[in-house]
Formats: sequence, C-alpha cells, structure tokens
Amino acid sequence: MGRHYLKKGEQPSASSSPQLDVASIVKGVIDDVRQNGDAAVSKYSQKFDKWEPKKLSQKEIDEAIAALPKQVVDDIKEAQKNVRIFAEAQKESLKDFEVEMQPGVFLGQKNIPINTTGAYIPGGRYPLLASAHMTILTAKVAGVKHVTAMTPPIAGKIPNGTVAAMHLAGADEIHILGGVQAIAAMACGTETIKKVDFLAGPGNAFVAEGKKQLYGEIGIDLFAGPTEILVVADEHADPFTVATDILSQAEHGPDSPTTIITTSERVARKSMEIIDELLKGLPTAALAGTSYKTLGDVVVVDSLDEAYKLADEYAAEHVQILTQRPREALEKMTAYGAIFLGEKTCVSYGDKCIGTNHVLPTKKAAKYTGGLWVGKFLRTVTYQEVKNEKASGELGRLCGRASRAENFEGHARSGDLRAQKYLGDKYEW
Ligand code: NAD
Repeated sequence: MGRHYLKKGEQPSASSSPQLDVASIVKGVIDDVRQNGDAAVSKYSQKFDKWEPKKLSQKEIDEAIAALPKQVVDDIKEAQKNVRIFAEAQKESLKDFEVEMQPGVFLGQKNIPINTTGAYIPGGRYPLLASAHMTILTAKVAGVKHVTAMTPPIAGKIPNGTVAAMHLAGADEIHILGGVQAIAAMACGTETIKKVDFLAGPGNAFVAEGKKQLYGEIGIDLFAGPTEILVVADEHADPFTVATDILSQAEHGPDSPTTIITTSERVARKSMEIIDELLKGLPTAALAGTSYKTLGDVVVVDSLDEAYKLADEYAAEHVQILTQRPREALEKMTAYGAIFLGEKTCVSYGDKCIGTNHVLPTKKAAKYTGGLWVGKFLRTVTYQEVKNEKASGELGRLCGRASRAENFEGHARSGDLRAQKYLGDKYEW
C-alpha cells in the first residue's frame, strides 16, 4: 500500500506558544537580568511563579529531606547509585593520553573538568527529581568543583523531593528559582548569585531557548527542550505497550510530540484505540491528550528498514523499539537521543532510574549531538613538548616554510629561531 499517515482522532489546535514569542520573551528577561541583577530576577520570579527567590540554608535542606517518606529517599539513593555507576564507566572511557610522534616530540590530551556549572532542574509542572540525578551527579562524577543548582517552586512551595535529590546528588548550593530568570542569573551573575562557566539541564521551551541565547557567553550542554517519543513497532508489538509508552512521554506537557512508525496497520489502529481509552482514566490526560493529538504522527510503512530510515529523519529524543529483533535498530539507526530496545525496557526506566542520562537532545538536535554525559563537563585540551634539539630545528624549518606560504612572517620567525639555535641555520631578518 506504500507509506501512509493515519489521523490521530480529533485534533485540537496546538496550545504551545509560537517560537517568535518565546524568543522575544526570553530575550527581554535575559536583558533585564543582565542590567538589573537581583531586582530583575525577583521581578520575573514573582511574575511567572509568584515566588521570592530563595537560596536554601542547610537547615531548610535538612527539613525538606526530613519531610519525605523514607521510601522516597531510599528510591532517590537507588536511582542515583545507578546513574553514578554508569557515569563513572563513562569517565573511565575517557583516558588522558600522550603520544611520542618522533623521538623527543610529545603530544598529549587531557580532560579537565569545568570549574563551575549551573544545574537547572525543571519543575514547573512536575517535581523532576530525576533531573537532579542526571545533571548534578554527572557533573560531580566528572569532577566539577562547584555546582549551583536551581529549581522552581511548585504551586508556591519548596519541592521537597527535588531538594533531597539535589542535595544527595552533591549540589554545592540550592536555590528555589525557576525559568529563564534562573538560568540568566546563573549565566550573567547578580549581586548574590555567582556567575557560572556552564549551564546544564533540561527545561521547557523558555528554558531551552534561554540556554540557546546565552550560549557563547557561557557553555551549555545541549538543546534539551520538551520531551519527544518515537515508537518503532512491527506486527508482533503489543498495542497496549505501544499505547502505554506513548502516553508516558505525552504527559510531560502540551508540546511533547509522540510518533508511531509501524509495519502493521493493525498495530497502529489498535494502539490508537487503546490510547483513546487510556486517556479517559489518566490523571494527566489534559496534557497527554493535547500533545498526543496535536504533535507527531502515526505512520504505516512497508518494511522495518523503511521504518528505521524514517525514524532517523525524525531524530527523536527517545526511540522505543518494539519489534521481534530490537537490536537490529542499533545497527540500522543513527539519529536519536537514547534508544530503548525491546518490550522489557522502556523510556520511563531511562527517565527515572535505569542509570543512563535522561537529559537528551530534542527538535532534531540528535542529528549533531548525543545527550548529557560526563564528557560534556570536561574540556578536552592538548599539550605539546619538544625535548629534542634536532626535532625542534626540523620542525622550525617546516614551520618557517608553512607560515610563509600563508604570508605569516611573524609565525615563520619563531620557526627560524629554533632552526638557527638547534641546527645552525642563518636567518635573514
Ligand atoms: P520548567 O522548570 O522547565 O519551567 C518552569 C518555568 O517556566 C517557571 O518557573 C516559569 O518561570 C517559566 N515560565 C512559565 N511560563 C512562562 C512564560 N509565559 N514566560 C516566561 N517564563 C515562563 O518546567 P516545566 O514547564 O514543567 O517544563 C519541563 C520541561 O522539561 C518539559 O517540557 C519536559 O518535557 C522537559 N524535559 C526535557 C528533558 C530532555 O532531556 N529533553 C528531560 C526532562 C524534562
């Protein structure tokens, strides 16, 4: 029948803000914070969150943790243990090295942790405890000395669970402050908030746009905006699993695209039917229903090869493979933030507890970057040392010729000087 798209039932109009508005609102907040510091931060926190920004004392952190059921604290520790183990394995894979190019000529590479980072832990709609594990803990495993962590209040209150996760992950200071005003404060510095070198963490369209606008002035991890899921399913996939997993990501917000690409029209139609049923009983249906119905596609294709190729074009943040041979996707696909292989794993495991990082590229950024990992907090730098006089002189001659080919007389003379010192050449300048 060829590739065809199925309609996801009745489609309300998209409710997310147009990109142009987001960009100009964000620019206004950043400019104001840059000029007016704490006063502007407080103004926008009051405006968007009805909240006076607050740096938590150790006593307030202890109180937040004490207010939680023990199981919640134990679960935070368990999830953080998994995130730490995986991050440590990543760090292990990044070895410094030195190579002797020729006798006496040494070139080396080192990975130096960034000194200070801001960690944004989203929390406008849900307390995203897990983002604290992903952002703060990973920075700490990388060796970042100082992590300034911020999260918004939820409904005018300190989110105790998020504070516990931030503290247990190793945050050096914790502020209850959200949105663009938080990241602008960390990036530009204010009278009371110290400027950071780097900003990491996911967030809504405003937060992601803010990081984009501030990039250059400070480093950022990646463009990690509203969550996306894409499911690749074959005729053996369980439609109930497809439906459940699609809604697991649709509930993030009204701007989270959900896509199903399948070789089976039956699986596609049944999954959509079940999604409509499940939405009736899902407490977060208002958000999940809006994003499911307005963003993303349901596509029936002729073969799994076509499915993988099309999925690569979407370059979705999360890809869930529900096929008979899920590992095949690892060979065939190249563009995704994280891929979840087979029915026994799911995106929610990655989101909450399995140990891989959940801060992942959105809006096709997976075409040029992977997600947050230890390496993002490291600066890979090189060093060089020539210990051998003959080698230095010969490099000097090569450097002289190479520099003059580019009309760089000053560069050439640095080479000439060594050739003269170590090989007895005569320079004529
Ligand atoms: P958030 O913390 O990102 O944003 C909340 C803040 O937005 C508020 O504090 C407020 O200051 C600001 N805000 C709200 N409306 C505004 C407006 N009109 N103008 C300016 N600022 C405004 O929390 P959220 O909104 O719940 O969003 C979390 C997002 O993070 C979701 O979209 C989710 O999908 C995404 N997420 C992405 C990843 C990833 O790796 N890509 C991971 C986890 C979560």
